[in-house]
Amino acid sequence: MSHVITLIPGDGIGPEVTEAVVHILAASGVAIEWDRHDAGATAVERTGRTLPAALIDSIVRNTVALKGPVTTPIGEGFASVNVEIRKTLNLYANLRPVANLPGVDSRFQDVNLVIVRENTEDLYAGLEHVVVPGVVESLKIITARASTRIAEFAFDYARRFSRRKIAAIHKANIMKMSDGLFLESARSVASRFLDIAYEERIVDAACMHLVMRPEQFDVLLLPNLYGDIVSDLAAGLVGGLGVVPGANLGEGLAVFEAVHGTAPDIAGRNVANPTALLLSAVLMLHHLGEARAADRVRDALHGVLSARAIRTRDLGGTASTTEFADAIVRAMA
Ligand code: NAD
Repeated sequence: MSHVITLIPGDGIGPEVTEAVVHILAASGVAIEWDRHDAGATAVERTGRTLPAALIDSIVRNTVALKGPVTTPIGEGFASVNVEIRKTLNLYANLRPVANLPGVDSRFQDVNLVIVRENTEDLYAGLEHVVVPGVVESLKIITARASTRIAEFAFDYARRFSRRKIAAIHKANIMKMSDGLFLESARSVASRFLDIAYEERIVDAACMHLVMRPEQFDVLLLPNLYGDIVSDLAAGLVGGLGVVPGANLGEGLAVFEAVHGTAPDIAGRNVANPTALLLSAVLMLHHLGEARAADRVRDALHGVLSARAIRTRDLGGTASTTEFADAIVRAMA
């Protein structure tokens, strides 16, 4: 049976890394029909809109999407397409497994943690206004409903994938009401999952512990903003943004995308590392019930990385995006 999947190449290095992943998946033995749609700057040029309605319709119809990164201008212009997609489709959980890869050097060797980030509220509600000239207010929205839902997701995930411990990350010593509510919700869910250990860490201390002894962490449960920041920090523990995958999950809908952005500094030069999007696609294959193809792709990727001969520049090599993708395809033959 062929899977119909929405493909969003995106901006910057997006089209390069998505093309590489499409090429590799075509060799993995799984039948996929891609339903391609533009978003972001590319969509504005072609349709005048950053998030065309046809794209949302496509994800709702196909229920699964693979997405490249999309540009969000800082401090002006259109709202974040990423935030819009997550909010419109109610993709409330952002899942980011962060683990060492064979052959990828990093300061640590025993990192194997999973970041579960709330995806719909917090300071990402986008509610900002000028109170008086020179004073701006930005509203941090935390609800019991969304906090409970993401905590349930994290505990369910831990149970399903045999994870032992969840650390809720917060700053409730300062934001006593908002982060306090997040913690209260997490505690209430934890009391229903007594087989999973539960602890709480203040976000600044958690960051220090992450860069000193990351192996002590298992599943991290975070509100939106801390989740965003800690995800990039955690990516740095295992080799950088080029190697960390992600998934945005909601009720019956899933959008898989790498943690990294459009990397304008290297876009259009065929040097980006497609590993992060490829590992996102491996998560997608598991989601689709294609475990064999997922394992094939992962094993081929691990084989190429372990051999250390063909790697992209971010990992210390000289291979182009397409040379790296071709090597993975050959490793699957
Ligand atoms: P970035 O992730 O694009 O780049 C940060 C650094 O990591 C750069 O030096 C870049 O070259 C490097 N890098 C990132 N991905 C790489 C890869 N696959 N291979 C090799 N090197 C890689 O972060 P940024 O520069 O802060 O953001 C650029 C743009 O991307 C912004 O418009 C931002 O809003 C957007 N963005 C989009 C998403 C998304 O669509 N999900 C996520 C983050 C940032």
